[in-house]
Amino acid sequence: MTTPDVSIVDSHAHLTAREFDEDRADVIARARDAGVGTIVTVGTELESVREAIALTEQHPGILVVAGFHPHGADAVSRDDIAALAELAQHPKVVAIGEIGLYFHRDYSSRERQREALGWQLALAAELGLPIVVHCREAHEEMLPILRDWTRNLGASLTSPPGIIHCFVGDTETARKYLDMGFYLSLAAYIGYPSSRYAHDTIRAIPSDRLLVETDCPFFAPQRIRGKRCEPAYVRDTVVELASIRGESVERVARDTTQNAQRLFGIAKGMPSH
Ligand SMILES: [Zn+2]
Repeated sequence: MTTPDVSIVDSHAHLTAREFDEDRADVIARARDAGVGTIVTVGTELESVREAIALTEQHPGILVVAGFHPHGADAVSRDDIAALAELAQHPKVVAIGEIGLYFHRDYSSRERQREALGWQLALAAELGLPIVVHCREAHEEMLPILRDWTRNLGASLTSPPGIIHCFVGDTETARKYLDMGFYLSLAAYIGYPSSRYAHDTIRAIPSDRLLVETDCPFFAPQRIRGKRCEPAYVRDTVVELASIRGESVERVARDTTQNAQRLFGIAKGMPSH
């Protein structure tokens, strides 16, 4: 894509990560130059949520997802959830996340991960915010939890209810999340040779349910794999998606941006850039 005529949304970045301490403003400026109009930055505990909110006050076009990552679930108390509820009142906080289950490596006990997830699902419903779900190797357990949540809370849920971030799974699993109304977000790993098996699933995701993200500083595109990733590189994922899906780069950029606006704009209106 030579001219960035369609603004792209990086729907999941960690701008407050220590990896960006030396050059955060330059990283944000490079994203603008690359046509990334909005960066959704995710705070994974109270401190990084506060830092993320501060960033929105220094730079235009930044939105915040606020929550406790499953890695840190062992340390989360009910008081922490109350503090999160307060921070989530900020107008630039557009979702609760990333919340979920991480059974790939058990950094926190599975029991506490389930508990922190339950508390935050209740909070999202109470605040009328969508959720950003982190789920690695736990779809079997996650699907019924989200099915109950979407069914029981009915009208108090936002529509769409949220995003499965960095989705990795087969077509059948994707369909189950899509049937509940969730959007699926993909990052640069779709361009790694090991993801070739996933192309059919990537093609099966409807255009109006697809998002792009970097999850930076993780998941650098294949061309610079192993290096630090940053929001400007979300373009690589748009180009890769266009190639896998047989669509134009402009169309993927336009669709994923519209989807992000619909999803994050529901509760509080899309903040101006
Ligand atoms: Zn993340």
